Amino acid sequence: MARYYLAVCRQCRRSGEKLMLKGNKCLANCTFDKRPKPPGPQPNRPRRMSDRGTQLREKQKIRYSYGILERQFRRFFSEAERLPGVTGDTFMLLLERRLDNVVYRLGLADSRAQARQLVRHGHLLVNGKKLDIPSYIVKESDGITFCEKSLKNEYYKRVLEVIGTKAVPGWLVIDRKTLSCQVASLPTPGDLDQKLDAQAAVEYYSR
Ligand code: SF4
Repeated sequence: MARYYLAVCRQCRRSGEKLMLKGNKCLANCTFDKRPKPPGPQPNRPRRMSDRGTQLREKQKIRYSYGILERQFRRFFSEAERLPGVTGDTFMLLLERRLDNVVYRLGLADSRAQARQLVRHGHLLVNGKKLDIPSYIVKESDGITFCEKSLKNEYYKRVLEVIGTKAVPGWLVIDRKTLSCQVASLPTPGDLDQKLDAQAAVEYYSR
């Protein structure tokens, strides 16, 4: 499986803002606060960014936020283009329905990277069946639970302790005593992160 091996903080520095890719760890010690400039050699004088550069940066911000490599990100975009509706919204809604993102939104993990690991390591069941594919697109009324074996581990107990403090979006439901979850409805454009500019990604790929 292909994966990103460099420090994730570089992605925040490249985007010019904190993307909180490490969850709660970002609150305690943030590299961006110490080194906000982009990684690599610094230009002698500030350069004006072209429209194409701005579109690329916004597109990358979405990709970094959801923790996906370019090839899979592009595949999701092609799928969104094929489906009816506004491409930008459809694209973002598809990303939002990824299993790793849903696990993160439910508060079962601190970051999408941690949620992805939880899925990859086979700790979760979808509709009662083990599913270890982070890019699985959830459907309405899908149920997500921890597998029997994982109910005994320390991670499950720790999530039970903190789950009461986590906010869950309206399209998802969680039983905070058993951590069994359900996709009550599909997300709508109002549920998306308004800081991410899907239109920039559409313009970037449309050239
Ligand atoms: Fe980004 Fe978090 Fe790293 Fe700060 S600590 S640069 S918010 S990933």
